[in-house]
Amino acid sequence: MLATIALIGRPNVGKSTLFNRMIRSNKAITHDQPGVTRDRIYGLVRPRSGAQPFGLVDTGGLVPEGDGDFERDIMDQANEAMGEANAVLLVVDAREGLMPVDERVARDLRASGLPTLLVVNKVDGHEQESLTADFHALGMDMISVSASHGYGIHEMMDRVEKFL
Ligand code: GDP
Ligand code: MG
Repeated sequence: MLATIALIGRPNVGKSTLFNRMIRSNKAITHDQPGVTRDRIYGLVRPRSGAQPFGLVDTGGLVPEGDGDFERDIMDQANEAMGEANAVLLVVDAREGLMPVDERVARDLRASGLPTLLVVNKVDGHEQESLTADFHALGMDMISVSASHGYGIHEMMDRVEKFL
């Protein structure tokens, strides 16, 4: 059976952009407005390294803007995705910095015992590595990437393949 890896994180951090880069297609809709990925999207990743293919789940599922409890919704999504995943990529936004929701999701992930890699996205080149400083506080294995530019993706895939 295929291993499944879930992308979890707040809206607009770049999960769908990362999903599309990993599956090398444009299946997930990306948008500069939060909340565009309303349901889970499944894709197949075929690593260039020749490592075994794995399933990838993109999550989103925000309620329509202005409606309700954002945080609860993110947590629900995260918990559902955790239930069906063998490992998780927790995606955060380097430009926005560490948010309270990131901390809560990180805590849940730790409690779940699932292998997790913290993916600090929107680090669009090595000169932006200082943006990652805050995130060490989460105490997780961490890698910085640019889902839209490709920076760090190769290294990230090497780490992800260790989950398989
Ligand atoms: P999601 O809500 O987490 O799925 O986020 P999206 O993938 O839809 O991306 C949200 C916004 O962030 C879009 O405008 C993307 O173009 C932008 N974005 C995603 N990844 C990067 C990145 O690595 N660098 C920069 N600068 N912008 C990014
Ligand atoms: Mg999305």
